[in-house]
Amino acid sequence: MDNIHICCPNCKWEPDGQAYWQCSCGCVWDTFSTGGRCPECGKVWEKTQCIVYAGGCDKMSPHLDWYEGLDDIINKLKEEIKERWLVKEYA
Ligand SMILES: [Zn+2]
Ligand SMILES: [Zn+2]
Repeated sequence: MDNIHICCPNCKWEPDGQAYWQCSCGCVWDTFSTGGRCPECGKVWEKTQCIVYAGGCDKMSPHLDWYEGLDDIINKLKEEIKERWLVKEYA
């Protein structure tokens, strides 16, 4: 995944792999490790907030807009994420 770059589409803040995002179920995790899906309850977060206290801008942007890179690789990744979103729940 070397050709994929993740950053805020608004301010270009780059997530550093830390668990900044909290789900409504209370789970705190790195949303980019699961393609925007809560690993606890399976809820899909189609929008991702930029983390202001980590240097970001606090703005919500569509999760898929955070991915940058070569078009064909990015489109494949986005399809994979969308396929995962179609799965109702983790078993
Ligand atoms: Zn959750
Ligand atoms: Zn931002």
